[in-house]
Amino acid sequence: MVYVGLAEMRVKLVAGNWKMNGNLASSQALIKAILPPLSALNRARYAVCAPFPYLAAVGQALRGSSVALGAQDLSQFEDGAYTGGVSGAMLADCGCTHVIVGHSERRNVFGEGDAIVAQKYAQAVKHGLIPILCVGETLSERESGVTEAVVARQIDAVIQRCGIAALGRGVVAYEPVWAIGTGRTASPQQAQAVHAFIRGRVVAADRRLAETLLILYGGSVKAGNAAELFAMADVDGGLIGGASLVADEFVAICSAAQGAKETVKT
Ligand code: PEP
Repeated sequence: MVYVGLAEMRVKLVAGNWKMNGNLASSQALIKAILPPLSALNRARYAVCAPFPYLAAVGQALRGSSVALGAQDLSQFEDGAYTGGVSGAMLADCGCTHVIVGHSERRNVFGEGDAIVAQKYAQAVKHGLIPILCVGETLSERESGVTEAVVARQIDAVIQRCGIAALGRGVVAYEPVWAIGTGRTASPQQAQAVHAFIRGRVVAADRRLAETLLILYGGSVKAGNAAELFAMADVDGGLIGGASLVADEFVAICSAAQGAKETVKT
């Protein structure tokens, strides 16, 4: 099902997730390369999520541009004796406006479950950050036919802890785990089906919020497949890993979001 109405109000967002890559010099060089072409694109929004140590320098390089600064994670705690933790307040203080929450690498490598992800989401909202909430199923979950159940559980955990209004303060990113960093992208139809399911689930709680909620797709998005993914009715942009480290690729993906005005109804 496709939800129309307020859908036209959704401005696409493309966010780069640099993960644990690069160094200070390469981070600055990447920003220098992407800013001029991105400054000419004004029908979509863009963000880069840099590693913690480079946030200040990347923020400085982005100053005056329309590209937003994001982090890749935050602590579920407010402050105090949490060695190695980085709080939402610290991220806001560094100029971040966005933060990725619940990326599958955090869930699967660092063992963060739904309850911790929901706590992190709450901290992000509390400190005025826009959480990019990642949800998605593993390959075995897809093959077992539980994709919708997994995604529903992950979203419901946030709604139950933070409330439906808080969901509207963030962005959802559907990232099938089997597509992340594998070169195996969900087909536009596979992505659309899950995005429509997510929007439909939120409709049950708040129709208006559901219609304006941005739902990004992530998982091996490249210059060559971005346009067809972004053309789907419920795909409101992308969360881009590997390709966001290559200036030309990232700019091409951002251009595809800019051009994806027409939505394909399924
Ligand atoms: C990601 O890590 O969020 C991601 C989508 O990675 P990739 O684009 O490399 O699959």
